[in-house]
Amino acid sequence: VEHPPSVLHSFLDAAGRVPDHQALRYFDGALGYRELDDLSDGLARHLVARGFAPGDRLAVMLQNVPQFVVAVLAAWRAGGTVVPVNPMYRQGELAHILQDAGVAAIVCSESAWHDYVRATAAGSPVRIALTASEFDLQTRDDPRVLTATRRPADDARDLLAAARAGGPAYDAVLPAADDTALISYTSGTSGRPKGARNTHGNLSFNAHRQIRIQALGDDAVVFALAPVFHITGMVCQLSAALAAGHTLALAYRFEPGVVLDAFREHRPAYTVGPSTAFMALLARPDATAADFASFRLISSGGAPLPPAVVEAFRSRTGGLYLANGYGLTECSAPCASVPPGSEAPVDPVSGTLAVGVPGPGTMVRILDDAGAEVPFGTQGEIAVTGPMVVPGYWNRPEESAAALPGGELLTGDIGFMDEDGWLYVVDRKKDMINASGFKVWPREVEDVLYTHPAVREAAVVGVPDAYRGESVKAYVSLRPGADADPAEIVAYCKERLAAYKYPREVEVLGDLPKTATGKILRRELKAQAG
Ligand code: ATP
Repeated sequence: VEHPPSVLHSFLDAAGRVPDHQALRYFDGALGYRELDDLSDGLARHLVARGFAPGDRLAVMLQNVPQFVVAVLAAWRAGGTVVPVNPMYRQGELAHILQDAGVAAIVCSESAWHDYVRATAAGSPVRIALTASEFDLQTRDDPRVLTATRRPADDARDLLAAARAGGPAYDAVLPAADDTALISYTSGTSGRPKGARNTHGNLSFNAHRQIRIQALGDDAVVFALAPVFHITGMVCQLSAALAAGHTLALAYRFEPGVVLDAFREHRPAYTVGPSTAFMALLARPDATAADFASFRLISSGGAPLPPAVVEAFRSRTGGLYLANGYGLTECSAPCASVPPGSEAPVDPVSGTLAVGVPGPGTMVRILDDAGAEVPFGTQGEIAVTGPMVVPGYWNRPEESAAALPGGELLTGDIGFMDEDGWLYVVDRKKDMINASGFKVWPREVEDVLYTHPAVREAAVVGVPDAYRGESVKAYVSLRPGADADPAEIVAYCKERLAAYKYPREVEVLGDLPKTATGKILRRELKAQAG
């Protein structure tokens, strides 16, 4: 398969073409393409001078800050692989990744370093540590960002200072399509987290596909709503923006008020985030249609998108269409999306919104339990082949062979395809509820709950039931100012769903538990209920 040039190639190309164009914005600060080129080159030199060699792994454990981008580009320039680490991870999770990926170098915030990273790195293969404390790219007083007070950095040195100091020149070997760009750890719902090996070819294929879909003008600003340590943010935001010569606006981490301010200030043309982020933005009473007026395209990805949210979004934003998209870490972000200019249909039977159509070069098959393809409209496991599918997991030959037989990715998602080629994701195979032998997919019940006027978020799980084996239970959070009686919500669902599907119990919570990337954690609720 032909892959476009790597994201690093395209970035260097953009830096030559539009050196004075803004590459990054962070609150009031900005960094041009030439500066980002210089800083990432300096950091690559610094890393190489400290013994970082081609093929080595650099863990980057930061929020959406400019240093994240500098570190990623530097690692790639030095021939290394980036291991993005969720900055919310605690010691045990971090220790596993450092060991499993054989991490040679790490970048984290100065406060995390002193808090626990230093101690964790001590018993690991890490030889080089850098902290990112110098948030000098922003001038606004932002208490969330400036929590890192300047304490002595031990053996860790500040990342930007290191980048500016540089080191002797190094052999810059541009990455080949098969080289590992990222080791992306899954959240580990089934066993210990595994590192998906996203190659430079995987990334460039999807980044360039995103650029074509986004079709933004030269001066476009892309806003990073999704965290860049997660594959969606890394590919659709960071990689696509820098490969196209656009401006990437970062704002630390998702906070609805800060995000609305950033929309007003940066006037972005594109962003992508999980559906929960859009629900949180809609829940802000001060959000107006004008705040969204600069968008040409806005996408929801990585988590189910209830049709009711698309409509609520449209009416609050003066007609903006929230486009669904389906992806996985193992697909280097999206593998199906809504073609520009069209709208995803809703399946009349299940009420599920289509996630999109498979992109060019991408083949999606729906398989039954025996691995045979099923006809249109029939549910089965979604299997994906294409240039963005990872070759495997890092150091896990058995798990790689099981998840990717013959290079085809078995997603673990149940879905179906209609005759027009639209793909629908029903749910995750493992989240199916078995109530008296009837299959209940939580998604279908959640989609109904989202149409209830008082419901802000919903999650449905199976809970042990002496009579049915499992029974359907719903957790909801309410819209600001709304009030609802759980029995009334049960009755609302009973009217709209088959007898075996409606939740027997509804519990109202202040907020539903979510991953750092904004996905509602059904498994946590299930554990709580069970
Ligand atoms: P793990 O695989 O360890 O559980 P994770 O859920 O964080 O971790 P990701 O690769 O981030 O893994 O998420 C991919 C999953 O998200 C898909 O397999 C699918 O279940 C779900 N998903 C992604 N996009 C959509 C969408 N548009 N609609 C419904 N579900 C989606």
